[in-house]
Parts: sequence; C-alpha cells; structure tokens
Amino acid sequence: MTALRTIPFGRPWITEEDQQAVLTVLQSPVLTHGPQGQLFEAEFARFLGEECYCISVSSCMAALHLAYLQMGIGPGDEVIVPAQTHVATVHAVEWVGARPVFVDCQLPTGNIDATRLEAVITPRTKAIGLVHFLGMPCAMDEILAIAERHGLKVVEDCAIAVGSRLHGRHVGLFGEVGCFSFYPVKHITAGEGGMVVTRDPQVAQRINLLRAFGVDRTHGERTRPGQYDVVTLGFNYRMSELQAALGRSQLRRVQAILSQRRANFFALKSLLTALDDILILDAPEVESSNSHYCLSVLLTGKLAKKRDKIVEKLQQAGIGTSVYYPQPVPRMMYYRQKYGYRADLFPQAEAVSAHSIALPVGPHLIPEDIEYIAARFRHAVKETAA
Ligand SMILES: *Cc1c(COP(=O)(O)O)cnc(C)c1O
Repeated sequence: MTALRTIPFGRPWITEEDQQAVLTVLQSPVLTHGPQGQLFEAEFARFLGEECYCISVSSCMAALHLAYLQMGIGPGDEVIVPAQTHVATVHAVEWVGARPVFVDCQLPTGNIDATRLEAVITPRTKAIGLVHFLGMPCAMDEILAIAERHGLKVVEDCAIAVGSRLHGRHVGLFGEVGCFSFYPVKHITAGEGGMVVTRDPQVAQRINLLRAFGVDRTHGERTRPGQYDVVTLGFNYRMSELQAALGRSQLRRVQAILSQRRANFFALKSLLTALDDILILDAPEVESSNSHYCLSVLLTGKLAKKRDKIVEKLQQAGIGTSVYYPQPVPRMMYYRQKYGYRADLFPQAEAVSAHSIALPVGPHLIPEDIEYIAARFRHAVKETAA
C-alpha cells in the first residue's frame, strides 16, 4: 500500500487574487449595496449565457425562501419536492406555510422521479420544487410538460449545479426561479451567499423588494435622504460587497474549476467501474452537461450493508467522504413528527441515503489523489467483503 495521504472531501480554493479582491473592498467606503454586488449579478447572468435577471442574496436558503414568497404560495397550498435533497429545498416551502409533498428519486441520477409527479398532484398543488441532484440536470422536458398541464410553477434548487446545462440552457432558467449557493465547498464560493435567477422581470422586481425590507427605492434611486416607502414585508437577505467581490473573483475561474471536476470525475469513475455491486450515480451527457459535484457510489447487492465499514476504512486512509443526503428529508425528525413517515413510499431515497458514499472530485485533488482514492476504495471493498 502506498503512503497515507490526507484528502478532504471539499476545500475552498482561495487564491491571492481572491484575497486581494476582498481587501480592495475593505479599503473602500462601500461594504454593502454597492458596485460589487451589481457586477457579480451581471457577470453571473453572462456566465449563464442567456438574457435573465440575477439577484444576489445571503444564501441559497434565502433564495429559495424568496422564490416561494414572491409566488404568494402559503397556508393551504402544496408544493411537490424530492425526498432526497438538502433540507433547504424543503424548509423554504415550510417557511411560507405551504405543505411539502415528497416524491421518491430515481436511479441512476438520484433526481426526482418525474413519472411519479402526476400521482401526487391535487387541487391544492401550486408548484414543483426540484433539485438537480449532485449537479445532474433533472428531466426538465417531462417536468415542464407536467407543470404546464396542471398550471404549476417550477423552482429549481441549483445549489450544486453551477455549470449544469440541458439542451444548451443552464439549469435555473427552465422554471420560474432558479436558486444557487456560494457556500464554501460548493463549486464557487462567496464565503456564504446565493443567487436568484429568473427570466421574468416581474419576478425579479418582487424578489428585489423582498430581499431588502420591502423598501421601494435603492440608495441610488433616491434624490434625497429618506425618500422611500415600505410596500411589503421583506427581509434583509442581502449579500455584502466583500462576499460579492470574492464571488466575482471565483467566477473568473469557473470554467477551469468545472473542467477539473469533470476530469477528476471520469478518471475516478473509470478506475471504479469494474467493481461488482456498485452503481455510480451519473447521467448520460446527451445534450446536457453535469457540474460533477462529487462521485456518489451506491453500494448494491452484498456490499449494500457495508457502507459504514467502507467509509471508516477510507477515513483511516485519510480520505474525506460525505453522504448526499444522510436521510430522506421526510424521515428527518421535524418532518417525520409533523407529517409522519412511510419508508415504503421512498425506497430509492432510502437506498441512496443508507448505501451511498460520496467521493471527492474537487479541484483540490491531484492525479495521484485520484489513484489513491480508487486503490483504497477497492481495498476497503475487498476487506469488508472478505
Ligand atoms: C448547500 C445546499 C443548499 C443550501 O445552500 P446555502 O447557501 O448553504 O443556504 C440548498 N440546496 C442544496 C441542494 C445544497 O446542496
């Protein structure tokens, strides 16, 4: 066996340029509400590659909350959500007072199973809130057709889907609202932060209002101090200039980050595919591209029950892993206590949460790391199977 290495699951990649960008803001008089935020929004829209509105916010959770709030969705309404996702996808629905209705995922992507959507639609259903799981685009053709047939809005959680496209269109621009995250270990970071994207100018206007207290005029739009009114019940969900400057600096490297993730993903995948009893979550890249957030291995057959043992062996070898996501959201205590839980409704989500291991593919890996992860993974499998 080769010498031990230490490979974290994710590590923010902060360059000297990134640091300089933040320092420059600190030396300026404007720390929020300024040019960095506006430039980040414009540059993110250019990256998406289509005419759209981008509104920077404090997190993806804030973005998701605003998405439903501006729709006027609330008590008595239902929103269809995936059972297998980050809890923020669902918390946003709860925070506006609507009821989340969970749908199982499908394999080999882990995305919401579009064939199960129509069975849960009721007269109270107002929207579908989906996640592009680990950066693999959902079946948007099918989902949008169903949404249109039933008059439902679509919210896309794109927190780990920066760079994911389908038929040339970046994810987040298919539904009414798309929500991105700049949390430290996502594709690009602003420390914390998020972005709301939409092609609808009225949606953008409502989100702009709700993001900053419901005040109807920005500082730039006032001709004298205090010249504003408050027209709705908003939040302070703004992103600071420090965060926006870091996000802008990171966005300049996004293509390099994406191609490195992609190369790492395929290198690692090719070293693991020969193993028995594993399924690597992936989507065929026909007319689409993935953001390759991680490489999630679903253990099947006789390996299915060995997940925790294999994770432990990888940990001893210095390899950081993660689980996306450790429990189906409806099984988490808050949701279980509120709505009850039936495991038989979510067999695939149960399998992914109980039997998958997410391996790192981020730009912090070097080629030797990939070989090391694959060798140690094979070794751990052999040892636990014996
Ligand atoms: C990280 C993540 C979020 C939450 O993002 P924050 O910016 O931390 O609020 C939401 N959804 C998914 C799928 C995520 O991975």
